[in-house]
Amino acid sequence: MYGKGIIKGLGVTIKHFIQTYIEDLRWIGKGRYYTEAGVLQRMSPETRGIFTIQYPEEKMPVPEEFRFIPFLIYEVDENGEQRDRCTSCGICAKVCPPQCIWIVRTNDPKTGRPIPEPEEFFIDVDICMNCGFCAEYCPFDAIKMDHDYELTVYNRHATNIYDKAKLSKPVSYYESIRPINYTREEEARAEAEAAKAARKAARG
Ligand code: SF4
Ligand code: SF4
Repeated sequence: MYGKGIIKGLGVTIKHFIQTYIEDLRWIGKGRYYTEAGVLQRMSPETRGIFTIQYPEEKMPVPEEFRFIPFLIYEVDENGEQRDRCTSCGICAKVCPPQCIWIVRTNDPKTGRPIPEPEEFFIDVDICMNCGFCAEYCPFDAIKMDHDYELTVYNRHATNIYDKAKLSKPVSYYESIRPINYTREEEARAEAEAAKAARKAARG
């Protein structure tokens, strides 16, 4: 019959409308809006009533494997010096499907030999398709996918080619956004170091 579907749809809307007020009453004093607990409750399958998130005031937490623009990892040595993990091997630039990575290498002026850290490293973030290939293929765990998805700018031509300074973040940041991956990689690294030391000891 004509109009039956419309009435049914409106019934669903009214149900959510009423349930929103019931849930709000249940959450009095606990902060259903603009709090982490409130966001998580509205994201859960058990939620009733309104389930929308008031972005940008509220943000949904992203899972560890969420990936957006890549970033470069640096370590800080015992002298407080910043050390890039990147060796400018160029594998990431080679595998990048839309070819949006550009690396500038340099040589030591005294020896003429290549310096393993990149002089410059650019990613055109307007072209990056967030595939994560660069991070997957990097043999040095030097490039990883970031969780930061808020890239809105007024002038993308002037700002959306990220350079090395903008791409570089400390390893502690990587640990904070991807703790499971970080722990797994550190364990693998420690095992590899131990195996290397054992081989060296065996050779005498
Ligand atoms: S980020 Fe990794 S793959 Fe890319 S150039 Fe540096 S070391 Fe090589
Ligand atoms: S995420 Fe994909 S598209 Fe973006 S820089 Fe890495 S390889 Fe290229």
